Amino acid sequence: MSKKKLLEVSGLKQYFGKASAPIKAVDGISFDVYEGEVLGLVGESGSGKSTTGRSIIGLYDVTEGEIRYDGQLISQGQDKQARKALAKNMQMIFQDPYASLNPRMTVSEIIGEGFDIHNMYTDKSERRQRISQLLEQVGLNREHANRYAHEFSGGQRQRIGIARALSLEPKFIIADEPISALDVSIQAQVVNLLKQLQREQNLTYLFIAHDLSMVKYISDRIAVMNNGKIVELGNSEDIYSRPIHPYTRSLLSAIPKPDPISESKRKRIHYHSQANTEDAKTFEVSNGHFVYASTAQYQQWLQETSK
Ligand code: ADP
Ligand code: MG
Repeated sequence: MSKKKLLEVSGLKQYFGKASAPIKAVDGISFDVYEGEVLGLVGESGSGKSTTGRSIIGLYDVTEGEIRYDGQLISQGQDKQARKALAKNMQMIFQDPYASLNPRMTVSEIIGEGFDIHNMYTDKSERRQRISQLLEQVGLNREHANRYAHEFSGGQRQRIGIARALSLEPKFIIADEPISALDVSIQAQVVNLLKQLQREQNLTYLFIAHDLSMVKYISDRIAVMNNGKIVELGNSEDIYSRPIHPYTRSLLSAIPKPDPISESKRKRIHYHSQANTEDAKTFEVSNGHFVYASTAQYQQWLQETSK
């Protein structure tokens, strides 16, 4: 992993609705994603994770803050050409492979759609070859190209979604809960595939999830999001071995333990959003491990977690 910042998000706010009473989906978040790393973005439903991903990919007019990709400001005032170039570098994998793939299109049409927009393959056999290659990369086979999306299982559909995301050879992929809609039995397979592709192609991921169970296996660092804010960020190891924010602790306490004895001792921690966060700021617990708290909260949480 290099130390080059591929994505820089600073002070991002994304509000919806009336200006007088906005829905603060994303409420002032800052983080970087380094080239070649996987940053996990975790939080319960409604935390603002998808909005973060969608803001990055350019689906909204940003309310406030800046987003930079490869040093270039992408959060405002881009022309069509710049947006097109960006779309090629940055792709999204969606949560629901049933809703995100058109059932009336063949696999070949779905995967090859971007080729036409970007004038990539005018030669038919070259195009077919590339589709076969993509299918094999995601663990499907070339005979699948002429079938329709609705003929596949959830896991296979997500593989098609991954092939589509890879078709334009992006550098950066936002995977928005790519396994949440899948059977538990195949979730690990899809995570392993994503991890393998990331290593082989030196891809950079923002990997969104609503719980901390699978994220551990794929992420180098993890950002924990609650109520539109990043409340804790650090190396995966720090987040798992020394979580400070009570929200992170509650998410960790929700993961079932693999062995029955530890599982019987597992205590759920319940988090109730604390109202007194007016003077909250970011504290650095240890190198690269940050927590968002008021001074009083920070001191209390350090004490609670040092026992
Ligand atoms: P997550 O992905 O973490 O579940 P979202 O980013 O989807 O969270 O949503 C965060 C909050 O913003 C939710 O309260 C949601 O209802 C609201 N929200 C998301 N998108 C919109 C939108 N386009 N218009 C209005 N409210 C939205
Ligand atoms: Mg979401």
